[in-house]
Amino acid sequence: MEDVVIVGAGPCGLSAAAELQDQGFNPLIFEKENVGYSISRYPVNMQFFSTAPMLEIASVPFITPNDKPSRLEALNYYRIVSERRELRIRRYEAVTAVERDGDGFRVASVGRSGQPSLTSCRKVVIATGYFDHPNRIGIPGEDHAHVSHFFTEAHPYAGTRVVVIGGSNSAVDAALEMERVGAKVTVVYRGESVSANIKPWVRPIFDSYAAKGRIDLRLLSRVVEIGYDQVTVETVQSSAALDDVTEPQVVRETLPADFVLALTGFRPDRGFLRAMGIEAPDGIIPPAHDPDTMETNVPGLYLAGVVSTGRDANEIFIESGRYHGRKIAAHLAALREGTAR
Ligand SMILES: Cc1cc2nc3c(=O)[nH]c(=O)nc-3n(C[C@H](O)[C@H](O)[C@H](O)COP(=O)(O)OP(=O)(O)OC[C@H]3O[C@@H](n4cnc5c(N)ncnc54)[C@H](O)[C@@H]3O)c2cc1C
Repeated sequence: MEDVVIVGAGPCGLSAAAELQDQGFNPLIFEKENVGYSISRYPVNMQFFSTAPMLEIASVPFITPNDKPSRLEALNYYRIVSERRELRIRRYEAVTAVERDGDGFRVASVGRSGQPSLTSCRKVVIATGYFDHPNRIGIPGEDHAHVSHFFTEAHPYAGTRVVVIGGSNSAVDAALEMERVGAKVTVVYRGESVSANIKPWVRPIFDSYAAKGRIDLRLLSRVVEIGYDQVTVETVQSSAALDDVTEPQVVRETLPADFVLALTGFRPDRGFLRAMGIEAPDGIIPPAHDPDTMETNVPGLYLAGVVSTGRDANEIFIESGRYHGRKIAAHLAALREGTAR
């Protein structure tokens, strides 16, 4: 019988494991891929917006000579944390279900061989993140092979026409990188300007590229259909251009597109949580949990990291989610000592 099972070895799952160790527990982590898997899928040349100290967990220093760490530095760092702390990790073993079993739980998992396995434990921490579940736009053509919700690197797009959907850091970074390798990039975004959260050192560069026409920026616009070599875009004409009409006008046009990158963010898999009995309706409300302890409405079942967010998945990130484990560990220690409220 395990004390605590943690599902997911991202930054917040690893942090929870270290915090539990510090309270005398010996958690077992299940990770369907390898440590820091979500980060390993981030754009190869990405730079975090957080400084290294803001990403630190487990009292292990994150040393870098750079102002902001790179993807590779973060991968090395979280791997080193798992080694230094000698965390028990069942890699390449996906948890498929968590069920009540008496006072504890039975965790069903399946490894690379396809062999199913059951693990009994007293408590479970879900730290599965959101990166496997991109926000779908829900338009015709979204599942075509030349459409992706992930951007890895620019080279495959050299010399092609790419439509990027979105106005966040991911969209802006990808657009700049692709323009620099000779892609003809159009950014289509529904807002009046790209996100206010664009990294401040990137924003002026993007604005300049857009102003000079190096990137074709379509604001107040939505892609409504994706064809094999084109997209259909609807744009709301700004009121300044329409002083003579009262109703905003929508203009429809077709843009050529060899590739479409729908960089529209991610959301946690609510169905996975609901199957465990957690109240997790689709929509803006976060899954039911006590923010002081991170315990869900299912006693003994906890959330750590971005899986605990509501619709706005950006309200929790590593900087904040790394502290969830400390709350969980404190609660479990208090329960053990009989001092929990
Ligand atoms: C491009 C980009 C840049 C970012 N920059 C920053 C930044 O500068 N600063 C910051 O604080 N945040 C940043 N973030 C956000 C940050 O990366 C996430 O908030 C963080 O990864 C969340 O950590 P997590 O441990 O909750 O989830 P994840 O890192 O997503 O980890 C979840 C883990 O669970 C595993 N898993 C999922 N399902 C199962 C299952 N059924 N069984 C077993 N394992 C499972 C996954 O494989 C994964 O390893 C950025 C995000 C993106 C996309």
